[in-house]
Amino acid sequence: MKEIVPSPPSVIRNEQQSVQELFRKHVVPSYGRFDIVLARGQGSHLWDVNGRRYLDLGGGIAVTALGHANAEVTGALIEQSKTLLHVSNLYYTESQGRLAQQIVRHLAPGRVFFCNSGAEANEGLYKLARKFGHEEGRFEILTALNSFHGRTLAGIAATGQDKVKKGFEPMVPGFRHVPYNDLGAMREAISPATVAILVEGIQGEGGVTPATPEYLLGLRKLCDEHKLLLLWDGVQCGHFRTGRFQSFQRILEGVAGAEGFLPDGVSMAKSLGGGFPIGAFWLREPLGDLLSAGTHGTTYGGNPLGCAVALKIIEIIERDKLADRARETGELLKSGLTNLQRRFPTRIQAVRGLGMILGVELAENIPGLAVDGKAPSVVFTNRAMEAGLMVIPAGTNVFRLLPALNLTRAEAGEGLAILRQLFESLD
Ligand SMILES: *Cc1c(COP(=O)(O)O)cnc(C)c1O
Repeated sequence: MKEIVPSPPSVIRNEQQSVQELFRKHVVPSYGRFDIVLARGQGSHLWDVNGRRYLDLGGGIAVTALGHANAEVTGALIEQSKTLLHVSNLYYTESQGRLAQQIVRHLAPGRVFFCNSGAEANEGLYKLARKFGHEEGRFEILTALNSFHGRTLAGIAATGQDKVKKGFEPMVPGFRHVPYNDLGAMREAISPATVAILVEGIQGEGGVTPATPEYLLGLRKLCDEHKLLLLWDGVQCGHFRTGRFQSFQRILEGVAGAEGFLPDGVSMAKSLGGGFPIGAFWLREPLGDLLSAGTHGTTYGGNPLGCAVALKIIEIIERDKLADRARETGELLKSGLTNLQRRFPTRIQAVRGLGMILGVELAENIPGLAVDGKAPSVVFTNRAMEAGLMVIPAGTNVFRLLPALNLTRAEAGEGLAILRQLFESLD
């Protein structure tokens, strides 16, 4: 008997336009979006509604730690959803306790608070700092220029970039910014009101700039001398992306005098949930006790679904040694990028980063990237997308690679080949 093949679903001819029309009419236009409507993903590849395939080296901005549609993560979501999605923090649930235990195990003795995003994790650190300094009237938090700490009111006050603050003044008081990796500037900025220093281990949005080991050790010493909290924004550079759980563990590897280095608080989100929205902050013992019952909270924080997914992700990362793999594949990508820099010195200014958080700084005034009113990083990102590659702009002159930790060597090679062609076509 002849097999009856069902006819393919009728193509909605204007799917791309109709989705974009929905956004144009109904979605707050607060994002500059690329001209693409995504339909599905698998591993480190994405497909748009027109069936075009892309290699995803952006990882949803450092979120999809295990790529797209990971079968085990899907399984954890389904299994957990059969018992409990949510119960609130009025009660105990096992997965929240176990996820906290895992985070403590990867950092040091301390306690963990769960929330829903990176900005919210940082908010918890600001509140902790205020509580810590309250009796002495200290409240001020020093952060770095070019930093990024989230889009809440206190988040934009903490962020050392004017563009996020513009139009939203007056700023939440109590934040000041000093140049990054400049210990002298930080020392000079400390006032009697200062209570904490907040830094990213690798500035992500600011253009992928890692902290130096001397800076980190110096900050710890400054904080100890002045009774300040050292707060660590690990939202983008954390969760094994550099080859270690947190980037300070990687940056300080083998550095003399770094044994026992620890921040007092660490914020997390992005890769923690691999795409499920969850954030957290860890506090060194005994600081967690400052946030006693009733002082801080959030409805969804640490709900069973999010914790089950985050636990599964940590389990897979450990089982498959993905931290080591992120380090190795990251090295491969970085040396490939450095080769490109050698080959195209008038196109690539610098290559920075560690593991799977890498930045490529474009040279100034590349004719092929000069489009009126558009940052070269955005024009380049568009070109890459046309060539089937997803990267992420960081500021006006840098594009970032924040791939899944399980990116294969073949996929890394595929990405480098596309980049090479792109730089060739710019010549
Ligand atoms: C993304 C990011 C944030 C904000 O996280 P959201 O989940 O978007 O609120 C904070 N800090 C850093 C370093 C980030 O990269």
